[in-house]
Amino acid sequence: MIAYLERFVHGNDVESRQDDDDCSSLFNALDLQGNIDCPATGLAGKDFGGLYSSKPLALVRPSGADDVARVVKAAALSPSLTVAARGNGHSINGQAMADRGLVMDMRSMDDHFQVVRINDTAFVDVSGGALWEDVLERCVLGFGLAPRSWTDYLGLTVGGTLSNAGVSGQAFRYGPQTSNVAELEVVTGKGDIFVCSETENSQLFFGALGGLGQFGIITRARVLLQPAPDMVRWIRVVYTEFEDFTRDAEFLVTRREGDSFDYVEGFAFVNSDDPTNGWPSVPLDPNQAFDPTRIPQTAGSVIYCLEVAFHYRNNGHPSTVDRVVNRLLGRLGFDEHLKFEVDLSYMEFLLRVKRAEEHAKANGIWDAPHPWLNLFVSQSDIVDFDRHVFKNILKAGIGGPMLIYPLVRSMWDTRTSVVLPKDEIFYIIALLRFSPPDPKGPLAEKLVAQNHEIIQCCINKGFDFKLYLPHYKSQEEWKGHFGNQWTRFVERKAIFDPLAILAPGQKIFSRMIHHL
Ligand code: FAD
Repeated sequence: MIAYLERFVHGNDVESRQDDDDCSSLFNALDLQGNIDCPATGLAGKDFGGLYSSKPLALVRPSGADDVARVVKAAALSPSLTVAARGNGHSINGQAMADRGLVMDMRSMDDHFQVVRINDTAFVDVSGGALWEDVLERCVLGFGLAPRSWTDYLGLTVGGTLSNAGVSGQAFRYGPQTSNVAELEVVTGKGDIFVCSETENSQLFFGALGGLGQFGIITRARVLLQPAPDMVRWIRVVYTEFEDFTRDAEFLVTRREGDSFDYVEGFAFVNSDDPTNGWPSVPLDPNQAFDPTRIPQTAGSVIYCLEVAFHYRNNGHPSTVDRVVNRLLGRLGFDEHLKFEVDLSYMEFLLRVKRAEEHAKANGIWDAPHPWLNLFVSQSDIVDFDRHVFKNILKAGIGGPMLIYPLVRSMWDTRTSVVLPKDEIFYIIALLRFSPPDPKGPLAEKLVAQNHEIIQCCINKGFDFKLYLPHYKSQEEWKGHFGNQWTRFVERKAIFDPLAILAPGQKIFSRMIHHL
């Protein structure tokens, strides 16, 4: 095998062709249960962002952790090969790519799904390559159970979101998805397979959670479950003043369970009839209309929508649901003429973005570039952020949702690799741009430039913020991102992936040259 691996020192085209031949031979020698494409095909060099592309050497479809371990060990024996786990490729900036390296298609892993009960608590063991939408369906339909913490969109993999955080409107109560796993199986950058948890191989467990794929490839996760509700009342209410919106959102995320909604999110939108960015983006049902005469003359160019949801069971009396929901809404200060609500099943609610995906695919905007930006901003800076960013830089909208909602820091485990701003309450800002391909020129470049302007504004104003789903090009910038967590991150890297083989698309560490 070493003879094959010696070929993987890259140079010119002749060597590239030779690489492809040797790549196939290498994988025959590895005797995998899964299979491999040499050279890599289609999706392996692309992602949802559509801003970057790469040419991987091969696309590996592992069938299980053993295959993953064999491939990583082979890469470790080569002089310079890297390995990127690819979840569903829904990154924006090439994070799941490996230029001239090996891309591991985690979705090809053998199906693994088992509900286990430990001391009366239910968990589900799932493959790291499972899609959350499949986990939802199997847990709810088969067992009446469901994970507690979600992302808005569920066409993402378990390993992919756990490598970042996994945030949605339930995170204020249960923490991000990284706070809701009890155990992982991880293949390290040395090709060793470990089961890890809070008490067993805990450095690897906490390192891998939010670890941007740097310490290992998650091949299995044990996710905490709770009884699934049957139905959800999904409600949107409108605020013209930012301070009123944040006061109510923060009130809701700091109440105890039973005294608040089950889901709290929000978004900023443009005070106009623009079909994508304005009033029509608020109603939840085509039969509902937004009445702009209800907006006071004093309102600014950007106004706000608080989005909440209340879970209930089919056997509850409808009047009880109305009573509880009205009591909760009664404590809020929105404009009562601008309230929208629908009742839908729990699964329909959690799969709501899939409907938007179908729509976007039909309009051609799902496959166009997505220069998205996600930030966490401390509560103490959020009013200024609104003034400078929403009310100024983004006052015309972004062609998609501008999410903003509060999260609670103490629900996040600081032993994980995730990096947060300092305040106990901080906001997630998600600028989810959907734009058709611009026939006149490189629209995506202009939007990337606008993202830079926003980040620069945050720096210039001295805001306490962190990028979520971060993307940097130099190690200096990564050091700044991690701040006082950088030393721990580097120490974990030295232990679990000393040659820096894993997740090269994050551009945090460079592959160490291994002399054969
Ligand atoms: P990929 O993009 O394929 O991979 C992401 C990173 O993780 C890469 O570095 C990759 O190498 C690594 N990785 C992948 N699998 C593994 C594994 N098994 N083990 C170790 N490392 C691995 N995020 C939220 O938190 N909340 C949301 O509501 C939300 N909504 C989204 C909606 C859409 C439409 C999209 C496109 C993204 C959304 N995201 C959201 C972001 C999402 O969490 C990230 O894109 C994340 O990377 C998961 O996507 P993926 O499974 O496709 O992973």
